Amino acid sequence: MPSLQNFDTKDEAFSHNCSYFCGNKPIKHNRFMKKMILAVLVLAGTWSSAWATEKTFNSPDGKLTVVVEDQNGIATYRVSQGTTVMIENSPLGLDTNMGNYTTDLTLASCEVKTVKESYDLRTIKQSHVDYEATEAVCSFEKQGKKVMDVIFRVSNRDVAFRYRILPQRDTKVCVVNEEASGFTLPDGTTTFLCPQSRPMGGFARTSPSYETSYSYDEPVGKNGWGEGYTFPCLFRVGDKGWVLLSETGVDGSYVASRLLNVQGGLYKIGFPQQGEGNGFGSTSAAVSLPCETPWRTITLGTTLANIVETTVPFDLVKPKYEASQPYIYGKGAWSWIIGMDSSCNYDEQKRYIDFAAAMGYQSVLIDAFWDRQIGYDKIAELAAYGKTKGVGLFLWYNSNGSWNDAPQTPIGKMDKSRQRRAEMAWMKKAGIRGIKVDFFGGDKQNMMQLYEDILSDANDFGILCIFHGCTLPRGWERMYPNYVASEAVLASENLHFGQGACDAEARNAATHAFIRNVVGSMDFGGSTLNKFYSADNKRGTHRVTSDVYALATAVLFQSSVQHFALAPNNLTDAPDWAIDFMKNVPTTWDEVKSIDGYPGKYALIARRAGDHWFIVGVNADKQPLKTTLDLSLYGKGADLLLYGDDAQLNGSVKTIKSGKKVTVTIPQNGGLVIVNK
Ligand code: CA
Repeated sequence: MPSLQNFDTKDEAFSHNCSYFCGNKPIKHNRFMKKMILAVLVLAGTWSSAWATEKTFNSPDGKLTVVVEDQNGIATYRVSQGTTVMIENSPLGLDTNMGNYTTDLTLASCEVKTVKESYDLRTIKQSHVDYEATEAVCSFEKQGKKVMDVIFRVSNRDVAFRYRILPQRDTKVCVVNEEASGFTLPDGTTTFLCPQSRPMGGFARTSPSYETSYSYDEPVGKNGWGEGYTFPCLFRVGDKGWVLLSETGVDGSYVASRLLNVQGGLYKIGFPQQGEGNGFGSTSAAVSLPCETPWRTITLGTTLANIVETTVPFDLVKPKYEASQPYIYGKGAWSWIIGMDSSCNYDEQKRYIDFAAAMGYQSVLIDAFWDRQIGYDKIAELAAYGKTKGVGLFLWYNSNGSWNDAPQTPIGKMDKSRQRRAEMAWMKKAGIRGIKVDFFGGDKQNMMQLYEDILSDANDFGILCIFHGCTLPRGWERMYPNYVASEAVLASENLHFGQGACDAEARNAATHAFIRNVVGSMDFGGSTLNKFYSADNKRGTHRVTSDVYALATAVLFQSSVQHFALAPNNLTDAPDWAIDFMKNVPTTWDEVKSIDGYPGKYALIARRAGDHWFIVGVNADKQPLKTTLDLSLYGKGADLLLYGDDAQLNGSVKTIKSGKKVTVTIPQNGGLVIVNK
């Protein structure tokens, strides 16, 4: 496709047909026309430079439209869903120490093609993905020199873009100080957002770690607690639909970003806060050229279905290395959530290995202080014992380092390559399955490099990685084959720490299904069947949700390895039907379908594993949720198990026949599960 980079924008001759380049609008106008259009636009109050070059491209199904322009030297884009503008004209560009690519820009060319790709991935919501998108590479010039491409991808539910920064003469490296990348939500949009916390706050100065509460249906225009919001960010564009903003493809070559409010409906990409990591390290990104930055992703839908079902975080990235071996996923047990630090002793862990084996589970996670309270030799003994029962071990580690005051041990084992690889060599010898690394130090580039280094070293030794006290994963399931999941959420530990979290448990679950868990595997550690968060099951914070709710969240929350908050006593004190369900529930999935819901109120989704469809629901609303479900997923004549709650949250299971509709009621803090036998 020809490039327009040699066209002189001042030349009146180019009032020509340019349909291959500029969509349905003429690229240039003569001076009289310019004045006319200018006058009309000014009168209409919608300023747009008559000099602007414009390019339009669509999703494969034609329903999403992106328009890219160079209005007044500013690179902009906008996004429509059908005839509704969902993202209004919004800025693009970068400020680097090689040049400022946010002003005096000219859209020189735009190459459009279709991209198709199929891939398999066991560790996300969908095991096989057929991806199709329109790709547009829009090249921008400054002072006659090509300085950057903005690469767009438009699938049937997602728009994404990233920058390709080009070398200039002998300059082959640069520092990106800021991105202009913005998102202008229309008037009337409301927000479902999670504030970014200030750095070096919270427990042992470990924030930010993506552990704050959401606000619901708030108007646009706020900036969280002054520091913006953590991704992903959900918006409701009145009754027109939904927009989820996030990013993917972030690794040690860049910083992870947050979303800042500029004013009104305009939000922009924000780089990390200076104070993260105890103030050490730059907030900028250092790159070698040419470089492609992480993708900014916009998922759109008239309902929440596209949001729940999107695979955009994984569609846009590539594996960075091969899996060193076939990895084992599945279910596990975890003493710490009920028994806390003191439970990380030899006898209790042996008891949990026996419990995991009784449940048919694949692993046990041993949390902090195992190095002191059990010791390396005894851990190796436990690993050998677990192996005889088909149970592998995950071990907790502190990521520190020098970025916060978290005192838990083992510490000083994960932050530097030599110690880390020596530790992992021991793990491999002892037959350790995986690690859970906690208490990271923010989103600066040096920290993103640490995540990548831990993952790639762990793969060399056949070790799976779970992260806690950490950033959001951004495409990592596909980028790093031994990556499992991250916390990056107010997870189950808060249910132990405070009654407020227990009281808000259902509201949070009905939120994560539409926001946090949509873009990446979530290590929540839930599905408690204890009444109380204590070993004797009589004291401490108490669960207000039902047993069926616990079953439903085992399916609602997606992670290929799930360490549930079950305890050995649940074998005798929980209902048989609940234990049987928890023994058999899958953790890897083939497909997901959104059924209904509203963030913070209720969620109904369906997941498929092989021939089994699980329809699950939770309700946080005071009002019982009465709804009629279509059972056509199951085909005719199948026997289905329906787990439900009465008004007092007493659960039961009954058999129903598929092939017709069923009306169900989910009380507040209750759950629903339907699955074919
Ligand atoms: Ca945490």
